[in-house]
Amino acid sequence: MTYSNTKLFINGTWCDALDGGTIDVISPSTGERIGVVACAAKEDLERAASASEAGFAEWRNVAAVERARMMRGAAMLLRERVETIASLLTQEQGKPLAEARAEVLSASEIIEWFADEGLRVYGRVVPSRSQNVQQLVLKEPVGPVVAFTPWNFPVNQIVRKLSAALTTGCSFIVKAPEETPASPAALIRAFADAGVPRGVLGLVFGNPAEVSEFLVSHPAVRKVTFTGSTAIGKQLASLAGRHMKRTTMELGGHAPVIIAADADVEEAAKVLGAAKFRNAGQVCVSPTRFLVHNSLRGSFEAAMVAYAEQLQVGDGLEKCTSLGPLANKRRLAAIKEVVSNARESGAKLLTGGNQIGDRGNFFAPTVLSDVPLTAAIFNEEPFGPVAAIRGFDDLDEAISEANRLPYGLAGYAFTNCVKSVHQLSQRLNVGMLWINQGATPWPEMPFGGVGNSGYGSEGGCEALEPYLVTKAVTIKS
Ligand code: NAD
Repeated sequence: MTYSNTKLFINGTWCDALDGGTIDVISPSTGERIGVVACAAKEDLERAASASEAGFAEWRNVAAVERARMMRGAAMLLRERVETIASLLTQEQGKPLAEARAEVLSASEIIEWFADEGLRVYGRVVPSRSQNVQQLVLKEPVGPVVAFTPWNFPVNQIVRKLSAALTTGCSFIVKAPEETPASPAALIRAFADAGVPRGVLGLVFGNPAEVSEFLVSHPAVRKVTFTGSTAIGKQLASLAGRHMKRTTMELGGHAPVIIAADADVEEAAKVLGAAKFRNAGQVCVSPTRFLVHNSLRGSFEAAMVAYAEQLQVGDGLEKCTSLGPLANKRRLAAIKEVVSNARESGAKLLTGGNQIGDRGNFFAPTVLSDVPLTAAIFNEEPFGPVAAIRGFDDLDEAISEANRLPYGLAGYAFTNCVKSVHQLSQRLNVGMLWINQGATPWPEMPFGGVGNSGYGSEGGCEALEPYLVTKAVTIKS
């Protein structure tokens, strides 16, 4: 398998950093260096910001239908290139090839949805108080956008932000993850090849804190969008606030799962097993706190253990692999710590619990039961292949546990009782709730959280508003 080194993309050109700086890219399956990515210095970032300002001046005047045509072209190129991009993604991030392919294909679908939605950015005509006065509400692009995205979905964490920006007429610079740079570069290349003019798109990598400090405070940049941990999100939101920049924050979650007494337990375990272990649990909407009615606990736990034990852990490039390594060494250390903390706190280990081998970042799919509320895993986002289960006796108790943490991204529930469905939909403090199914973050539905999980939406018609400013125009004739 070939893996390419990654350059910066500034003003329509792929380039090295001016000072020649690079960062190593490490394979999560072998622990070996597979390539390098250019590391931008301040001069590179300045060039990217100026290019974005010039790109915006041009792109905002391109007709929406023309922007949509180029976006659809990029989506088509991604489909044509899916095998190459999926291979890069798996080599740098670790997920099984089938998941990498699905990520690239869903990126195409997201781009197409946003391309169409951009055709419906309407203003309003407001009835005026006088016959010779016309009152108009116009929607205009906010300006150059800067995005910071993480390594868990290297392509899809960018594509919602990028598509919303382009379709509304904004230019866009992304600081993509240094750990997984080649697949984001392939995404940007598809847009450049589809004809998006120079300066409209920028791709940089570097020291995250230095890049954000520089770009968020740069006068050319008008909006900041970030996906990552709550701690960094708060830092960036406060930096953006100091410079009066718009922000969208997609931050950490700690999704509760409520399995009510009347749930179909086999179906729940099948759906939740797939959801929990997808991308080795490194998913912001991953089901995390499993709250199971005590009458079903034994059968649910047995089904989850069976699901975990049939998974084939290995290099994502191998055909039979269904669970890849953790994406980096930090995650491996964090997951070891979270499991040992849970066991010390009194949780029962039902399966897994250990690193596999000493090459790469492999960790066995793990199921814990009787997890105390005080265990770290029931309080901090674990971001790994660990299901933590505890029982409950009545729905009110489960709902108050679900709402106990300051996060509010995703939630899940399994029940066949209409009354419980109503209670859950009204009382759970989450931005997204999936009942009797796994997550389906289709682009036409809002995607985002509440509380410490951030604000703003990256799906549905709500996703365009943060990239638009409103202008009220009153005309007297
Ligand atoms: P992190 O918060 O250090 O980094 C997350 C992303 O933000 C990375 O891509 C990083 O390059 C970037 N980043 C870090 N500091 C930054 C700064 N000052 N300015 C701009 N960008 C910055 O997290 P991590 O060690 O990669 O992962 C730790 C935790 O973050 C995970 O356990 C998980 O809880 C959370 N996380 C969430 C998501 C998500 O999809 N919401 C994705 C990745 C990580």
